[in-house]
Amino acid sequence: MRGRIASQGMALAEAYPVAETLVEAAKEKTADPAGEWARFQAARERCADQITRLMENAEKNEDDDIRDILDFQYLILEDTEFLDKIEHMIFKDSWNCAYAVQTVLDIYQKKLQALTDNAYLRERAADVDDLGQRLLCELLGVENAISEPGGPYIAVAADLSPSRITEMDDKKLVGIVLEKGAMTAHTVIIARSRGIPCLIGAEGALERISAGTPALLDGFAGELYLDPDARQIEGYEAYAAERRAERALLLEYRHRETRTKDGFGMRVYANITSYKDVAGLLEQGAEGVGLFRTELLYMESKDAPPSEETQLTAYRKAAEALGGRPLVLRTLDVGGDKELPYLGIPKEDNPFLGYRAIRYCLDHRELFRTQLSAILRAGAYGNVQLMFPMIAKPEELALARAELALVMADLSARGVPYDRGIRIGMMVETPAAAMDAGRFADKVDFFSIGTNDLTQYLFAADRTNARISHLNSCFQPALLRAVNHLAECARAAGIEADICGQAGEVPELVPLWVCMGINNLSVSTPEITRVRRSICEADRGLCRRLLGRVLESDTEQAVRQALSQAQEQKS
Ligand code: PEP
Ligand code: MG
Repeated sequence: MRGRIASQGMALAEAYPVAETLVEAAKEKTADPAGEWARFQAARERCADQITRLMENAEKNEDDDIRDILDFQYLILEDTEFLDKIEHMIFKDSWNCAYAVQTVLDIYQKKLQALTDNAYLRERAADVDDLGQRLLCELLGVENAISEPGGPYIAVAADLSPSRITEMDDKKLVGIVLEKGAMTAHTVIIARSRGIPCLIGAEGALERISAGTPALLDGFAGELYLDPDARQIEGYEAYAAERRAERALLLEYRHRETRTKDGFGMRVYANITSYKDVAGLLEQGAEGVGLFRTELLYMESKDAPPSEETQLTAYRKAAEALGGRPLVLRTLDVGGDKELPYLGIPKEDNPFLGYRAIRYCLDHRELFRTQLSAILRAGAYGNVQLMFPMIAKPEELALARAELALVMADLSARGVPYDRGIRIGMMVETPAAAMDAGRFADKVDFFSIGTNDLTQYLFAADRTNARISHLNSCFQPALLRAVNHLAECARAAGIEADICGQAGEVPELVPLWVCMGINNLSVSTPEITRVRRSICEADRGLCRRLLGRVLESDTEQAVRQALSQAQEQKS
């Protein structure tokens, strides 16, 4: 079975279909209420056991959010009012138990959703829904979408929501195959940052795969082999051995200083989507976080943006865990392919050219101020920095900074602690900002170059469209010239230029970034040591000729040729 490669790597494990469809109970009368009640009690006990196990896991992983949700669900299962209502519907009204469960929990959910002035309780409606699904799966004998097999597995699904993937045990989830999916969807970004190989666009996968089928995911060839033969398994084992050997070699780069051979100091940061990613990146020796994609936090809540307190807790936890290392928080980059249904943004013909990121935030000042306030307050607990996405014209930056000043004034007036000297950066990902970089450079403390979007906008090529992926290549000379121009403008203004797009971690390109004078590269966690090794092996004097050749190139092919010749000469 073929798919598009969204995250490289290989995995050998059982395939496990993950249903995203919701289970529904049939509305039927019963002639055997006692039997229905016994069925309900048995299902309730099985769910309570599952939840207890999940709580133990959450406890072990110090996952307070998940533990709270499970705690709340467990309380419902034990609640006498809940049990009385079910009993009433079964014994007095003669309904089947699945319908009784669905009806009672529906009422709970609606009541919670109606609490418009209490965002915390409103968010709990989703947890009631989740519990209802768990109970119904048990009652109807459907494979529970939330349960996982006992050992390692390759998840196969139509699509997976980012919150679903974060619920999966990352020690067991070794591969992902999606029928749909998009290269820059958050699910894929998370898979990449966790080093999980992932294929997308694998049409018909669910139909052909049953739970427990041995499978080999080849995330280099873009293939999923079912019941792999001895030769394929041998190939996988050779790959695994190579990876182990490489990892052992890279170990020494975890805590090395990031310095080129000729003494130019840089830093390798990590890109994250949750404070929970910090432990892993520190283990790999990241010197900070260059991009916290805060959208995921917004996606985790189902029907309203996260409150200031919820955001503060998440940002503060990340800042504290980083112990003084930089934490660059990007304000909400909603839109494009990152949808937040509860914001009610109308469907657009060209969402990537539409109402997204800073454009949306500047029109929704309350939402924007809430986030700015949480970010500023988190600055009291660590080295927090802030950056604005998708800036296209100076007015947007000025308006965003004016909002920030208002929020600062409000916090000062209320005596709330925050970081008054917070560093402020902008993402450079629109051609307008790149062309006029010199005019932006004196208005910010740093540039963070978003090469994913910068490439798609430079080439007018949707980054999620596989048919035109040849245009979305970071080896294009026009992109490399744009990045070089940005580095020069930053240097002239005395500010830093960082890269936080995917291009920052492409091994062949690291010597070019070094030579251009890029200060920091923010990459996915599994790539930290590899990128640091490339920096430590680079020499700016020796790269200069190569950079000159690349910047003179007319075509991508010429760029690749120059890079491979330089590599050959080195080895
Ligand atoms: C980018 O555009 O390069 C970037 C880092 O942001 P995102 O991928 O989240 O759009
Ligand atoms: Mg972007």
